[in-house]
Amino acid sequence: MTPVPASAASANRQFLLWTLALLLLAGYGLHALWTRGLPWAAGAATRLVPAAWERELGESIAASIAPGAKPCLEDAAERLARSLPAPSPYTFQVRCVPSAEINALAAPGGVILVYEGLLQAAATREEIPAVLAHEMQHVLLRHSTRAIFRAFALQAVISLLAGDPTGLVAQVAGGLGVLHYMRADEEEADREGVLLLKRAGFNPLAMSALLESLDAATAGGAGVVPTWISSHPDIRQRIAATRALAHTLR
Ligand SMILES: [Zn+2]
Repeated sequence: MTPVPASAASANRQFLLWTLALLLLAGYGLHALWTRGLPWAAGAATRLVPAAWERELGESIAASIAPGAKPCLEDAAERLARSLPAPSPYTFQVRCVPSAEINALAAPGGVILVYEGLLQAAATREEIPAVLAHEMQHVLLRHSTRAIFRAFALQAVISLLAGDPTGLVAQVAGGLGVLHYMRADEEEADREGVLLLKRAGFNPLAMSALLESLDAATAGGAGVVPTWISSHPDIRQRIAATRALAHTLR
């Protein structure tokens, strides 16, 4: 075997080091693109989405997730919708889902599903409008649409360009577990929800009271964590923030 000259061995080592450095850089770049670029792109895409597309998508998702849901809580929803500070492109429809699951969710475009388990977990009826006020903000601020774009980016863009949400509906309905709002979205929905409760003449303390009821349901619920809480983290901090805000409005 011919020995490798010292200068050639050093050049090889340098080449290897440069390759490694470039691979690390490329890996870091891809990671940054994935963690920071995707939320940015999802936000940008959401701003371009027509409200009519959101309504069609949301209606199909709601029908797919909870076909047995029935219209309910109409008076509270109408009172909140009438109190919005600006005209909205969305018409809110609240539907109750006959399920013991402690959950509520907002589909893009205005359909809100409230599970009966959540209604039973609320300590008083006064807390129910708080669920609606919070979920309505996820619709108005397009958090639901943005969460879908983050989780199903490619399918969402294809569906938007094709003007047909069918394929996306199947993906979203099958993958609800991977849909998460960002922490800032939750805080914004809480804050705007409290303000909306106040504007509509409901008790603004209902939001923190609701969160406390759901927290209590978690503590005493034989290990059952309400879905609404597991998808809405930092509950203690949110109770404190919503209560403090409500006190400033009284
Ligand atoms: Zn939420």
